[in-house]
Amino acid sequence: MGASLIDGKAIAASVRADVAGAAADLTGRIGHKPGLAVILVGEDPASQVYVRNKVKLTGAVGMHSVEHRLAAGTSQAVVEELIDSLNADDHVDGILLQLPLPEGLDANAAIARIDPSKDVDGLTETNAGRVLLGRRGLVACTPQGSVILAKSVLADLSGKNAGVVGRSILVGKPLSLLLQAENATVTMAHSRTQDLAAVCRGADILCAAVGRPEMIKGDWIKPGAIVIDVGINRLETPDGKGRLVGDVAFEEAKEVAGAITPVPGGVGPMTIACLLKNTVLAAARRRGWADPLG
Ligand code: NDP
Repeated sequence: MGASLIDGKAIAASVRADVAGAAADLTGRIGHKPGLAVILVGEDPASQVYVRNKVKLTGAVGMHSVEHRLAAGTSQAVVEELIDSLNADDHVDGILLQLPLPEGLDANAAIARIDPSKDVDGLTETNAGRVLLGRRGLVACTPQGSVILAKSVLADLSGKNAGVVGRSILVGKPLSLLLQAENATVTMAHSRTQDLAAVCRGADILCAAVGRPEMIKGDWIKPGAIVIDVGINRLETPDGKGRLVGDVAFEEAKEVAGAITPVPGGVGPMTIACLLKNTVLAAARRRGWADPLG
């Protein structure tokens, strides 16, 4: 193996340790723990696992966790009333609406209801717009975590060629903006890109957020590149347990890349760590205090 592994678990643990310190300090200043509210509508099994992890890790960093589970048939009005009440609740600093919502519910309308100062997922138009404008806001967690991982290998991304495969609102688009803010030269690719392999081969920093198992092959990787694999795809296995793989063919890519994130254990843990980080930032900022983390 040529590449070094980018240990997302360890880096996420160190972000959470910083968050725990900030949370303890804020608890003293506020008089109660900073709080993160999670709304889960319906029974989606993957969402249930994500929410369980988020609740567990929120408590572990010394924050208050509030979980609201609503039945799949809950109306839009009830979801939005809950968001309104969390917006008004001073014990709640962050609101996370677990996506996807069950069919029949309008996720965009629900997200728009979240007070941007508590929008720790960075999905409201206000926070997404602030990333575009290069202004301070709450930055979407997965793209934020991906940049932290790339910078753990190379502190200064200035002038590097970055390739981002995928242009979703959740990952690809904000990630490309964050990389530009780091002064990387960014090329975006998507399902209509004509020579995807060539785009990838030009990238010193290659970020894959596609949702197609092992689509990016080893010989698409520039030798020595930093590879950030956001994809999480479940493959069936004969024992029925399934196996998680990324969007990059890891075994091939690790022979060529300079550094690469594993799946699992790469970007995934960073997403939750950045959610917790955003919650302490939100707790401080909405009280008009300086950012607790550098
Ligand atoms: P979306 O499905 O919203 O977006 C996928 C993007 O990939 C689209 O822009 C699409 O292009 C592009 N794409 C699809 N097929 C191809 C192709 N053959 N060649 C090039 N581009 C293609 O997915 P998300 O961005 O939400 O998620 C991407 C992956 O990241 C998924 O595996 C998801 O599970 C994972 N993920 C992981 C997280 C984590 O914490 N690690 C968090 C969030 C997501 P077009 O726009 O043209 O359709």
